[in-house]
Amino acid sequence: MVSRVIPVDPFDLVIFGATGDLARRKILPGLYRRFVAGQIPEGSAIIGAARTQMEAAAFRAQVRDVIAEFVDPAKHHPDQIEGFLALIDYVAIDARGTTGWASLKALVTPGRVHAFYFSVAPGLFGDLAERLHAHDIAGDQARIVVEKPFGRDLATARALNATLAEHFDEHQIYRIDHYLGKETVQNLMAVRFANILFEPLWNAQYIDHVQITVAETVGVAGRGAYYDRSGAMRDMVQNHMMQLLCLIAMEPPYHFDPDAVRDEKLKVIRALDPVDPQDIVRGQYLGVSGKGCAPQPGYLADAENPGSRTESYIAMKVHVANWRWKGTPFYLRTGKRLRARTSEIAITFKEPPHSIFDDAGDWRENVLVIRLQPNEGMNLKVMIKEPGPGGMRLVQVPLDMSFAEALGDDGADIPDAYERLIMDVIRGNQTLFMRGDEVEAAWAWTDPIIAGWEARGDRPQPYDAGSSGPEDALMLMHRDGRRWREIRE
Ligand code: NAP
Repeated sequence: MVSRVIPVDPFDLVIFGATGDLARRKILPGLYRRFVAGQIPEGSAIIGAARTQMEAAAFRAQVRDVIAEFVDPAKHHPDQIEGFLALIDYVAIDARGTTGWASLKALVTPGRVHAFYFSVAPGLFGDLAERLHAHDIAGDQARIVVEKPFGRDLATARALNATLAEHFDEHQIYRIDHYLGKETVQNLMAVRFANILFEPLWNAQYIDHVQITVAETVGVAGRGAYYDRSGAMRDMVQNHMMQLLCLIAMEPPYHFDPDAVRDEKLKVIRALDPVDPQDIVRGQYLGVSGKGCAPQPGYLADAENPGSRTESYIAMKVHVANWRWKGTPFYLRTGKRLRARTSEIAITFKEPPHSIFDDAGDWRENVLVIRLQPNEGMNLKVMIKEPGPGGMRLVQVPLDMSFAEALGDDGADIPDAYERLIMDVIRGNQTLFMRGDEVEAAWAWTDPIIAGWEARGDRPQPYDAGSSGPEDALMLMHRDGRRWREIRE
């Protein structure tokens, strides 16, 4: 199935930080793929901006290299590449400087949608907003796209919201969380609210617990300086995992409308109980000595601070204090250098109230697993009779669905999260972007947890690279009579 293309009018997209890692790996390749899909109309302009002085032709050559490196060769059509490069321009601008702004203004066409993607360090967001405004570059239909991290605590997030609000209305600010652009994440809402099947069971009466896992195999090498000031709580839980939790726990919005959806997510964040310190396990990965495999540094070497107390792993039990979820815990875990790269949400249902079978065999609870990566899809584990003449014995089998197989040839036409989100910006649809009050509420819940560790001088527990995380994380579940799902691809 080829994805439906919703037409848009010609637009101008300015990428600040166009020579950086994110622009090279995600934004520019994503735009090219949308161009090939026919979603970027002729006459649109994609304008790179960064401090590096270079001609537009040199930037186009960089974009050509980016396509060669990051786009599937099956999409390397020479005509399409030339057509895409014809939309590209470049202007040298320092976010804190005064030059280049007039050139940028001359490149954007009045009266159309202007999107300004702030793919630069967060410390420059305010400067860019202020200068776009001062140089009268952002017209009525201007939107700004703001990357993560959005603050490092409530105070900094509030200050950033206030700075952006001086120059842009909330409906013009797109705070990106690329997890929300993932096909499966949006499908969470479709599964919940377009099927009668699940919603009647979607509460504490029928759901025993929810597990959200985001496991990575990479460490923090190369990003050690950034990560060490952040840690798993700030880098993953406050934003991505919180958003996943909201989509599972929220009440049905009255309409699939940006503010209706975000109002419901906000209510979930505000309903989160403070977390008991005993319900949190933090970890730091160890190095690999190299016997039988390549040696790899541990977190403390990757982060270059031998005394660092920053966590590369966190597991926690969270309660949503409202009628729907009273008594159903949400277990979240995320970490680096774990056994496999996988992200999933697993919803474990309760036992049937009464068993009519004398010999239940290998009886287990129903589990709905929503896989975010790899192999996006859904899997519902149900009990059936074990085949054969051995009497009424039960066995658990999966009802398995991979989106790529179910929706298209090989999934090649399913847009990547950044592509989808950029096109939503152009269409003016904020449903999948975080609102300012949501971000602040998430920090308001996160801040006391981090402050508690700092006050107590907590040290993360070491865990082996390639493992499932620290031992105590297993205990977090065991003492509740539950267990984590295995981390595997
Ligand atoms: P990066 O590789 O360091 O690139 C930074 C970009 O900003 C470069 O193009 C740089 O070019 C430009 N820049 C630096 N100072 C500037 C200034 N004063 N004025 C104008 N341009 C300036 O960073 P990145 O990894 O792409 O990350 C960009 C943003 O995305 C950050 O907020 C980051 O937290 C966020 N993010 C990145 C990723 C990722 O995977 N990389 C993931 C999530 C979020 P010049 O040196 O030529 O100016």
